[in-house]
Amino acid sequence: MEDIRICPNHGYYRGEKCKCGYQGELILEKEKVEKLGRFISGLLRHFPQKFNLEMDKDGWVSFNALSRIVSRKYKWANKWIIKALIYSDEKKRYELKDDKIRARYGHSVDVELSDLPESEEKTLYYGTGEEEADRMLEIGIKPVNQTFVHLSTTIEKSEEVARLRTDDPIILEIDAEKARNDGIRIVKANDYIALVKEIPPEYIKKVNRL
Ligand SMILES: [Zn+2]
Repeated sequence: MEDIRICPNHGYYRGEKCKCGYQGELILEKEKVEKLGRFISGLLRHFPQKFNLEMDKDGWVSFNALSRIVSRKYKWANKWIIKALIYSDEKKRYELKDDKIRARYGHSVDVELSDLPESEEKTLYYGTGEEEADRMLEIGIKPVNQTFVHLSTTIEKSEEVARLRTDDPIILEIDAEKARNDGIRIVKANDYIALVKEIPPEYIKKVNRL
């Protein structure tokens, strides 16, 4: 985790220096960025009901309601700090719109995210261990502990994700264009992640690499 700072020309960013080279004013130290990020992602992805946070079917909650819960837990947090966290988040985990906020991916709560745009990639990727890959080629890719399967838009990203779990990832290639044409809804969470309820085996093949 990195500090959040603010550049007068480019707004909130993570790290020491802005992309323009300017070292902006410190907004939040990295330890607090980590705590705040973990709590907000928990609220928006996993346990809104634990804090009586009302969530609609597309994952949206009231930004004011969320801010109140967050600043009760962390006295140093407030709406501006939360916005700084969201706007400086390079993975675009969250979306803020019309006084509402949601996570764009990573949910274990039951959401539809029906207003996310459709993914346009012809091919998507999923990295996993060898045994799991073999099973997926037979029965398809289904979410485990998550509401959606998270697919990657590039081989490199899928490998990066898989390396968190296995030393020797197998990369599966998904014919997203064909799946879409057959009526399977695949949505875009950010530039690297696409979400789908399930991918049947006929759209999956193994990527052969040297
Ligand atoms: Zn700057």
